[in-house]
Amino acid sequence: MDIQELKRKIEFINSYKERVNIMEVCGTHTMAIGKHGIRGLLASNINLLSGPGCPVCVTPDHYIDYIYDLAVNKNCLIATYGDMIRVPGTERHISLEKAKALGAEVRMVYSSLDAVKLAKENLEKRVVFLGIGFETTTPPTAIAVMEAQKLGLDNFYILSMHKKIEPVMRLLLEDEELKIDAFLCPGHVAVIIGEDGFKFLEEYDCAASIAGFELDEVINGLYSLILDLKSNSTTIKNVYSAVVRKEGNKAAQSIIEKYFCAEDDYWRGLGLVKNSGFKLKKEYSKYNIEEVFPIDHSNLEKRKNGCQCGEVLKGKIAPDQCKLFGRGCSPESPVGPCMVSGEGSCAARYKFGNY
Ligand code: SF4
Repeated sequence: MDIQELKRKIEFINSYKERVNIMEVCGTHTMAIGKHGIRGLLASNINLLSGPGCPVCVTPDHYIDYIYDLAVNKNCLIATYGDMIRVPGTERHISLEKAKALGAEVRMVYSSLDAVKLAKENLEKRVVFLGIGFETTTPPTAIAVMEAQKLGLDNFYILSMHKKIEPVMRLLLEDEELKIDAFLCPGHVAVIIGEDGFKFLEEYDCAASIAGFELDEVINGLYSLILDLKSNSTTIKNVYSAVVRKEGNKAAQSIIEKYFCAEDDYWRGLGLVKNSGFKLKKEYSKYNIEEVFPIDHSNLEKRKNGCQCGEVLKGKIAPDQCKLFGRGCSPESPVGPCMVSGEGSCAARYKFGNY
């Protein structure tokens, strides 16, 4: 998009005079909005809210306590993507980083198959891969289980913290306090579930567009939303069609369906959300670490350190409205996951300011 076209679209967005709440539910969008200074380009009535789109951030504290216990007390080797390492549990001293300092085996991996390789090389240990993320990262976890099966490994497990986007978007739309008028739908998830995966939004009086992550792609997404709001249209729009197909990625959908089923799951700040988690099907339970060491959910929301990540994730407060923001909580010394994660709303606000 050339600069004149970009300017024209921004002017059009700003010509909308009513207050409008537009939520993004994707950590990559949160970072893109900050990085490109998109808030600073928009009129103050165009209110961009960040929702529960960061996978690390939505994982509740008591899961971190559980993983810490697996590493420190249950002699498990934990294989994880990098962002999870510094996330604190119910107490600030509980984290995988701290577990590692105590001598526990915590390895950072770049793919789920690296975790299978670790299991193959450490047959005397239970190797637990932390499955985290939305529909986008669930297929690689399924592929890891498939590979462990193929290799006949008895020491490979997963902890599935994978989440479904639809139930939580419904929950947010039904929250009367939030009053969401439009969603900027997550481009990565849309690659998997397709345009059709967001059709449910048409049941609500809500505009929605699927957008990419570059400056012009986000502006295109917002432009499409304002067009719809002006014309009272609530048909889902796909402005990321070079990447997102109407039906999504059928192969990825079928591998999710083969290995996982939807169950009620816990989210930070949102509690137990019906059918919102991907859990391994019964026939693959030998790979489910929760079958070996059940998780205690009674610690949900036990944290009392002033962190308001739960409110930030619901879009009820902006990151800099948390009283610890920049005063006790910073990327160097994070109190909550939204400041730890490279896709967290607090980290984005800290790095880029309110722009
Ligand atoms: Fe939690 Fe820090 Fe964000 Fe406050 S600024 S909500 S303490 S992560």
